[in-house]
Amino acid sequence: MRKRLLLIGGGHAHLFVLEALRVQRHQWLEQVDVTLVSRELHTPYSGMLPGLIAGHYRPSECHVDLAPLAEAANVSLVRAEIDQLDLSRNVATADEREWPFDVVSVDIGSAPPLFSVPGAREHALSVKPIDLFLQRWRKLQEEVDSLERPVHLIVAGGGAGGVEMVLAMAHRLASRRDRVKWSLVTRDELLPGYPRRSARLMAKRLADAGVALRTNAAVSQIEEGKLHFADGSNASFDALVWATGAAAQPWIAASGLACVDNGFLSVNTHLQSTSHAHVFAAGDIATDPQRRRSKAGVFAVRQGPILAENLLRSTSGRDLIAYQPQRDYLSLLSTGDRHAIASWYGLVWQGNWVWRWKNRIDKRFMQRFTSPFLPQSE
Ligand SMILES: Cc1cc2nc3c(=O)[nH]c(=O)nc-3n(C[C@H](O)[C@H](O)[C@H](O)COP(=O)(O)OP(=O)(O)OC[C@H]3O[C@@H](n4cnc5c(N)ncnc54)[C@H](O)[C@@H]3O)c2cc1C
Repeated sequence: MRKRLLLIGGGHAHLFVLEALRVQRHQWLEQVDVTLVSRELHTPYSGMLPGLIAGHYRPSECHVDLAPLAEAANVSLVRAEIDQLDLSRNVATADEREWPFDVVSVDIGSAPPLFSVPGAREHALSVKPIDLFLQRWRKLQEEVDSLERPVHLIVAGGGAGGVEMVLAMAHRLASRRDRVKWSLVTRDELLPGYPRRSARLMAKRLADAGVALRTNAAVSQIEEGKLHFADGSNASFDALVWATGAAAQPWIAASGLACVDNGFLSVNTHLQSTSHAHVFAAGDIATDPQRRRSKAGVFAVRQGPILAENLLRSTSGRDLIAYQPQRDYLSLLSTGDRHAIASWYGLVWQGNWVWRWKNRIDKRFMQRFTSPFLPQSE
């Protein structure tokens, strides 16, 4: 009997699944029906998002169009946002539509936890979903232009995402530097988990760009136009961008799947749910409790080919292969201008050449998934 494979989310790992399905179609076409359900049909590549905000890229250069990839792989593509997974009937649901499956794979990413601080949901702009953020960012630029008075823009989150975002935005609005005041606030130190030299270099770039940095400052509450800190102090703002940490969508835990760390889907070394053998997951939404890593796109990318192989194996009952996450990864943080800071196993470099290096890597990734009919370059 034909098996039904359902892919939820057009995240980085599922791009590799689409690629494998296209390349190996002769192996599975007779046995498996594949459907991809994704909230967006043009899926953003977040490595290039800061460059898009800064004005170095056009939107089309940073989004992968899922339609030609799905068509080339003989995969049915549906635009919908799944909000329920019923494992007693093996169906996923969105807007009262249902997609039945024998095997399901989840690659839906994560978003900053807006629920973690009272008032964040009402008064902060979340950096994810990225496309919603981009719409609000365009509006924000118009507002900044139309206001005569000085404005204060705050980014919350001192990790890679927050730092890259504030520098990209400040670069884009550099011509209004006399009227726009920038702040980056963070509960911890700057760039936790990164070599201290990276943090020092980044602090210097922030200062050069006119961004006031406030570390070890936990936000306790947000009201309209005002941020309250746990130490009793406060700061007024005209716009607040929320780029703190990562949270999972609540329907994952509600489905009864084994979860860890507040709702992330618990997977084993095969990227398979630790509670349900016919459920797989990769990217930010998946956490292997034995091998925790930071939530970074680079892991979703590395997991992609292993996930693809295991999905095809699971539909034909073959042994699964293991994913071994690397201990560290090459991190390339852009600093708004065409400059970046690299870190890798404690080594740190910076320069315009590092940005060009990052640009080449990012463009190669995009090219791989925008030229599906060309021979692959690896
Ligand atoms: C500003 C910023 C910069 C970053 N820069 C980097 C970087 O340079 N390098 C790096 O390694 N990481 C970076 N990251 C982290 C990176 O964004 C994530 O780790 C990465 O995107 C995770 O990939 P993913 O495959 O899990 O999901 P995503 O790339 O987030 O994709 C999720 C997909 O699922 C779809 N989807 C979501 N919910 C649903 C649903 N309910 N139903 C159906 N479809 C759904 C979405 O439409 C999307 O297609 C950055 C993050 C931010 C915020």
